[in-house]
Amino acid sequence: MDEGQRNWPVTLTLGLTFAAAVIAVPWYGIAVGFSGWAWAFFFIFLLAGGVGIGSGYHRLWSHRTYTASRPLQWFLAVIGGMSLQNSILIWSARHRVHHRDVDDNDKDPYSIGRGFWFAHVGWMLRDYKSGVVDETIVPDLKKNPVVMWQHNHYLSLVLVTNVVLPLALGWMVGDMWGVFLLAGLARLVVNHHVTFFINSLAHMWGSQPYTDENSARDNGFLAIITYGEGYHNYHHLFQADYRNGIKWHHFDLNKWFIASCAAMGLASDLKRTPEFKIERARLDMEFKRARQRLEAHESNPKWKDLVETLEHEYEQFLATVKEWQALQVERMQHGKQVLAEKLDASFHELEDALRMQRKRLTLLTAQLAV
Ligand SMILES: [Zn+2]
Ligand SMILES: [Zn+2]
Repeated sequence: MDEGQRNWPVTLTLGLTFAAAVIAVPWYGIAVGFSGWAWAFFFIFLLAGGVGIGSGYHRLWSHRTYTASRPLQWFLAVIGGMSLQNSILIWSARHRVHHRDVDDNDKDPYSIGRGFWFAHVGWMLRDYKSGVVDETIVPDLKKNPVVMWQHNHYLSLVLVTNVVLPLALGWMVGDMWGVFLLAGLARLVVNHHVTFFINSLAHMWGSQPYTDENSARDNGFLAIITYGEGYHNYHHLFQADYRNGIKWHHFDLNKWFIASCAAMGLASDLKRTPEFKIERARLDMEFKRARQRLEAHESNPKWKDLVETLEHEYEQFLATVKEWQALQVERMQHGKQVLAEKLDASFHELEDALRMQRKRLTLLTAQLAV
């Protein structure tokens, strides 16, 4: 495969910022020490950069999971740009290709099939052919004035937010170099690598509750350090959902940020995957796994009974799915106002039916372990 030429600007930027962060920051900390202000700005900038990428670059512009007002768009374009991960336009174009051609070593820009290092950072260090940006995949973004402004003034924006702003804030609080090193430099490097973990670790390490058709994983630890982006298995299947962590206890700061913006009138049209579809995907995966486990337990004396029960459960599952699809059609044909209440009740009943079935399936598969 043609790996292309070394991309020197990116290699030097990533290499030098990393080297400076691991050498200069501890040295300064030991020799001079960091003020409380420097630490405070470190965390504020880290949070801002992560939200800019997660809620802005990723969930707003790459996947259009909600609509943002102009002020919110400007805010996200600035704090997202600060993370030095290229402009919204280029980041989103590559990310949409990643979803479309996930795990295709020729097309997915950061395919995990080419290894951890490649997916994490190696893909950026060379101008290989899949690194070429296909702008035809982002026609909507090319019409967005905020996105295009950010694209055209990207370098200035990066310098102002990463150099001028930390130096100015540091000067104001009397710790210019401390704030620059912690909130400017160390924060940038931390933000880089935790985001890169989504392309590398979140495609290797974790569970696959919703699909095993691609390499994406759900990982609660990665979700904490990426403010929710670690629920990557769910996200790859339901990319239009503004949430990545769907349970209330799933740590998904970006979901809470977007919901708070909606409560303040800054965001609207937050898209959620219907509960039934989520349950269906989970159950489908569980049936698949139960079948695989059954295959390995042919010697189990109850094997025949178990196969029969499983097949019976699966038929019921398909019937429930069919019923739900029929209700969907009915909803579309009759308009919401006439049947909304009746339909909603039926949808809930079907959701409950699926949940009950998941419980029975769990009990059934538990018998295989005996
Ligand atoms: Zn995505
Ligand atoms: Zn992915």
